[in-house]
This record gives sequence, C-alpha cells and structure tokens, in this order.
Amino acid sequence: MRAIMPDPPVPQPESRPGLQPMAAGAGPRQAWTIDAILQLYELPLLDLLHRTQQVHRAHHDPHAIQLSTLLSVKTGGCPEDCAYCPQSARYETPVQAQALMPLQDVLAAARQARAAGAQRFCMGAAWRSPTARQIEHIAAMVSGVKALGMETCVTLGMLKPGQADTLKTAGLDYYNHNLDTAPEFYDRIISTRSYQDRLDTLERVRDAGLKVCCGGIVGMGESRAMRAGLIAQLASLDPPPESVPINRLVKVPGTPLDDAPELDPLEFVRTIAVARITMPAAVVRLSAGREDLDESSQILCFMAGANSIFYGDKLLTTANPGQDRDWTLLQRLGMHPISSTPPSPSCTP
Ligand code: SF4
Repeated sequence: MRAIMPDPPVPQPESRPGLQPMAAGAGPRQAWTIDAILQLYELPLLDLLHRTQQVHRAHHDPHAIQLSTLLSVKTGGCPEDCAYCPQSARYETPVQAQALMPLQDVLAAARQARAAGAQRFCMGAAWRSPTARQIEHIAAMVSGVKALGMETCVTLGMLKPGQADTLKTAGLDYYNHNLDTAPEFYDRIISTRSYQDRLDTLERVRDAGLKVCCGGIVGMGESRAMRAGLIAQLASLDPPPESVPINRLVKVPGTPLDDAPELDPLEFVRTIAVARITMPAAVVRLSAGREDLDESSQILCFMAGANSIFYGDKLLTTANPGQDRDWTLLQRLGMHPISSTPPSPSCTP
C-alpha cells in the first residue's frame, strides 16, 4: 500500500516582531516577500488549495459569502488613461458618458439591491478626483444608503485632504481605491496618476477611520512575478485592506488592453489563493471578469478563499452573472450570504 505523504513544506512570511499586530489574535505583523509569494504560486494546485482552505477556515465561515452590489453613479468621460478602462475619455469604447445620477434614483437602486439580498452597496464615479461639491452630493447618497441598513462603499478617484472625513461623517464604511498592479508594471497601465498618489489616498482613507477596499487586476499582460508583486504590496499595507477585490481583466473594445493575452483561469484561482493566504482576515472579492469564468472555475475560486462577489447583472459598465444565476449556484454549493444590518425603523426612507 502506498504511504500517505505528509503535507509539503510551505513558504512562510518573514516575522517582523517590531511591527503592529495584523489583526486581533493574529500575532506579530508579518511581511510577505515577492519570493515567498512566488513560492506559494508555484505549489502544486491541490497543495495550494489545501493550504488556503486551512487559512480560510481559521479566519472565516467557509460557507458564508458577502454580497456587494455596484452602481455607477457617474459614468464615463474620465480624464485618466487607465489602459483597461472603457470609461476613460481617451478611448473610443461602447460606454456612453452620463452625468451624476439623481439621489432618488441611487436610493431606488439601493433598495432594489437590498431586496435582492445585497449586504453592501458600492457607488462608483468616473472622476480623477472629486470636487468639494461632488463630495457633498456623494455624501448625501452615502447617508441615504446607510439609512437603508446597508454597508456603504464608494470609489471616486483620488481624495484631497479632508474629503475622506466628510464621507466618514456621512456614514461611509469602505472606500475603494485599487493599486491595480505591481509598481514595476504600473507605468505600462496608467500614466496620469502615480503609485504614490494611490498610496496617499489610501492613507487619507485610513486616517479618516474608514475601512479600505483595495485590490487589483490580473490578466493585463503582467508576469506571474508581477502578480506576486501586486499581492506583496497589498499585504504590506499596514494594516492590510479589510476588503481585497481581485479582478480579472474584462477586455473592452477600444481600450489599449483589448487584445491582452488570455489569462489561464487556474492562474486566477492561484491569485485568489495567494491573496487569501497573505491577507487571512480580509474579505477577498471575486470581482470583475466573473462573467467569463465558467462555474467550475468560480467554485475553485471559492475553494481558494474568495468570500465575496459583486452581485447584480452589471458592474460599473461591464456585464456580470445575473442574480438568479448566482443564487442558484450559491444554493447548489450550500453557501449563504452574510446578512445586512436590519434597517433602523426611524431612518428607513
Ligand atoms: S479606472 Fe477610474 S480613474 Fe481610471 S479611467 Fe476608469 S474611471 Fe477613470
């Protein structure tokens, strides 16, 4: 009879006893090097899934999934040049620019999302950086959505000093601002804002006491080492983001990345697993690109530690699996959504 093999040795982060603890009970803050992350990537897939399941189950209910619905409250016409984005005014894409949505329309969409089972409502605006007046409009939307009993998240571009505080006062829970990719690949993707600009906005978000939603996009033609570089950057944020969206490039005609090489779905699964292992307490979101993943690949992503999805038939401007399809899949898997806070009777619109 064949002997049962012991678990293979797995790479570990370097312990840095002088730094702050990562999360309650998580021990000293640990730094993940790109090399250690690459070793995770290179594990046989089943060993990587075994390892990530251990980490996932130690920190999360493995059957619970967080459902976020995303609404584009101001679409297109963005002056930035992000090479993946159909909302950039620099590229001819199918996206039609639209002005900021009226408050009542946003709240109607949030009520619909809540009725469909979403726990968090995320609002995105295609701006380089919002003006003071725009922040006031968004703050009113945040307050209205919060009053529905939902968690709130916005993504508005770079924030100036004080703007994160205004959003926090309005009831914002999360601010999304992605690092997008590794620093060494970054200038191939965006030239109109620097990596440091992004880190500065993340610092303002943290200083205001908001939770950070920060991830990136894979499949833009980067190497595996660059994917590891992105994860190393995210995991070294201090503290790490509470929410980590991992996006798979959606190739939109007219954008410079329309003909990017196809990413192997298993490489995407590996990226989810590596994010889970290096940021164990975070909610890891299977984000854009899910429409192009078959169900088996999505299930592997859940096994790899993804515990959040965008829920609804549209992301900011690209397609997403419909709610019915998602419900059916989650039920078949025996998974259940994390429920939202019940709305307060005094503030329910
Ligand atoms: S990703 Fe955001 S900042 Fe970049 S072009 Fe699109 S909307 Fe503008």
